Amino acid sequence: RFPEAAHDVMGFDDLLPEDARAVRRRVREFMAAEVAPKIAGYWERAEFPFEVLPELKKLNIGGLSVKYPGCSGLSTLGTGMVMAEMARVDASLSTFVMVHASLAMHTIELMGTEEQKQELLPKLSGLDLVGCWGLTEPDHGSDAAKLSTTARAVEGGWVLNGRKRWIGNGTFADVAVIWATNADNGEINAFIVRKGTPGFRTTKIENKISLRCVQNANIHMEDVFVSEAARLPGVTSARDTAKVLSTSRITVAWQPVGIAMGAYDVCMRYVGQREQFGSPLAAFQLVQEKLSRMLANIQAMTLMTWRLSELCDSGRSTTGMASLVKSWNTLRCRETVALARELLGGNGILSEFHVAKAFCDIEAIYTYEGTYDINSLVTARETTGISAIRAPK
Ligand code: FAD
Repeated sequence: RFPEAAHDVMGFDDLLPEDARAVRRRVREFMAAEVAPKIAGYWERAEFPFEVLPELKKLNIGGLSVKYPGCSGLSTLGTGMVMAEMARVDASLSTFVMVHASLAMHTIELMGTEEQKQELLPKLSGLDLVGCWGLTEPDHGSDAAKLSTTARAVEGGWVLNGRKRWIGNGTFADVAVIWATNADNGEINAFIVRKGTPGFRTTKIENKISLRCVQNANIHMEDVFVSEAARLPGVTSARDTAKVLSTSRITVAWQPVGIAMGAYDVCMRYVGQREQFGSPLAAFQLVQEKLSRMLANIQAMTLMTWRLSELCDSGRSTTGMASLVKSWNTLRCRETVALARELLGGNGILSEFHVAKAFCDIEAIYTYEGTYDINSLVTARETTGISAIRAPK
């Protein structure tokens, strides 16, 4: 089903160092053998493919770029290759890993105590524990600095109350990073909450048309007590949330690259085989224009995201750059998968032909980790020095 890299016409391979190439090879083989043959069924049933976790663990990529001892510690580019190769076959699985590592683990790595890191990060990296990251609330999506969830200091710890929405992996995660407003001083704080803590309840969000294998949860917290040892001491304001997002958006930016590659590869094979009017579809001019446009999108996305990853690894990327590439890639991917869907005709709306799944999956990525609009505003705030995120009164 997935021809080898028809999308790489300009030798992107030459730009990859051996470590990134090696991790890409491992993930590509895993996705082809373990995930591609069965994932459409999981997507249809909106189930997470737990059966692939034992093989996924063996890849040693569970912590992505988290560098703590005992963790996978990939480069930004290596992380990107994991994301792209996963998303090429299934964007839900890439989202599972991204939320777990680039959001939950990375927050603990940046803002946690040595004890929290030592206890949790190696186990999370080995996928012996699964993490989720709870920022969004029913009434606060893009406006995430204004959290209604509260943390009240009590003797020996904190009491959390509130609701979270859309939390990926939330229905089964062992460890949740929960963001809340400090009821005493109005600061933003964050806490590690374990599965099964009294008062902490999750319900699955049903009927999604996108990333159907990702188990998104509503989280309900009613007088949830956590000890002081569960607080992440590095978090004191919404700027700390932005710190996490400005690197996780680089990880996310590789997902549309992979989704577009996968859709293009399937499409190329299809238009080479399917005949109408006595010729393969690939012989028609209108088809070729669409193929060229898809290919141009993929080359541009790949190169821009590669450059961003290099800048990140040398400490030169900015928040605005991450937002620029994340938002632009999702836009170009949307166009690319829509063209692929179109070129498969009626089969393009069937999940077993893959492109319909890609077409639906990019919709959630266009919206999460900052919508297209919000990321565009973050970029332009950096380039103009003027924030247009709040409407003029
Ligand atoms: P809103 O903020 O209500 O936005 C609605 C529309 O208004 C959008 O088009 C938006 O661009 C536009 N808009 C809003 N403000 C402005 C503005 N200032 N200027 C211009 N336009 C604006 N969150 C987590 O915390 N953890 C997770 O693991 C997680 N996983 C997710 C997985 C999925 C599949 C999805 C769909 C979401 C997930 N989210 C998660 C939440 C996600 O980050 C939010 O959905 C996103 O930030 C947008 O918030 P919202 O849905 O409330 O939309």
